[in-house]
Amino acid sequence: MEKIKFLRNENPSPKPKDEELGFGNIFTDHMFVMDYDADKGWYNPRIIPYGPFEMEPSSMVFHYGQAIFEGMKAYRNKDGEIVTFRPMDNFHRMNRSARRICMPEIDVDFAWEALKTLLNIDKDWVPSTKGTSLYIRPFMIATDPFLGVRPSNTYKFFIILCPVGSYYPEGINPVKIYVEDKYSRVAKGGTGEAKVAGNYAASLLSAEKAKEKGYSQVLWLDAADHTFVEEVGAMNMFFKIDGKIITAPLDGSILPGITRDSVIKLAKHMGYTVEERRISIEEVFESYEKGTLEEMFGTGTAAVVSPVGVLGWKDKIIDLGLDRIGEFTKLMYDTLTGIQYGTHKDIFGWVKKID
Ligand SMILES: *Cc1c(COP(=O)(O)O)cnc(C)c1O
Repeated sequence: MEKIKFLRNENPSPKPKDEELGFGNIFTDHMFVMDYDADKGWYNPRIIPYGPFEMEPSSMVFHYGQAIFEGMKAYRNKDGEIVTFRPMDNFHRMNRSARRICMPEIDVDFAWEALKTLLNIDKDWVPSTKGTSLYIRPFMIATDPFLGVRPSNTYKFFIILCPVGSYYPEGINPVKIYVEDKYSRVAKGGTGEAKVAGNYAASLLSAEKAKEKGYSQVLWLDAADHTFVEEVGAMNMFFKIDGKIITAPLDGSILPGITRDSVIKLAKHMGYTVEERRISIEEVFESYEKGTLEEMFGTGTAAVVSPVGVLGWKDKIIDLGLDRIGEFTKLMYDTLTGIQYGTHKDIFGWVKKID
């Protein structure tokens, strides 16, 4: 691969104060871009000022949805160093997503070099207050100006960065989740295992309806029968029932979350029994009635661990309380964020420094 060109942004933006940060609305001064052509492969890697760019209205991504993305974070750890969490897993997952919708793979080592270079250029944008981070959004789109249906021959790959505030500015709070029993986001054999933009489009209507009912997100059930638990919007779902940690298996319609995998590895290491198996929504409600449902939480890069206090399904409700966080949920949150911010030992070697 060619050397990465660099064009400095001569009009850098003022940096926001840590306490003003939200999620995904402020972007750093630079972005990484490279182009793909079926004959040439990936070419012209460059770091240029963040900003708009031109595309043909006929670009295939606008019509047939070849678009994939990733999400990860860079943290300023307790020693002031900038670190990332399992970034190679994100790039490998991006290649799995690419294969699923006929997009070209990237060289993961080169992508890591590009990300490190970009992070070093924009490192002053990594906020330092505990809980804040720099969100990293790699994505790829199809750019052939063509309206026939087939995979595009040209693509663009980007990495953009945005400083984000603490997901829990007022301390970690449980959320209310609505169990969707009508709509589906993905089905087995579909694109659920891939981080495909269109999966999110398919989820919006249901999420809006849940919000009208006072819930913050949706828990998806399997598309065939609406029987088995799959996952929440952008989080994998865990239950603690009778001392055991239970989460749905990766059997085709669930996104293989890196936070999910980290929780499973940590829990097993700490001696917990972890079951990756199908769990019906009936079983969850029965365990609540029997008094064996101890904790519920979601996992994902944005929140890391998000306790679920209330689960609504048809006319039934599980109420574990919106003012308490389960012990295991808290242990996972503290351990994972501790590894990320450098206060806990990184026993699995998950943290990668950028220089
Ligand atoms: C990204 C994502 C997750 C969480 O994955 P992490 O790697 O833990 O951030 C879970 N579910 C869906 C549908 C996702 O897109």
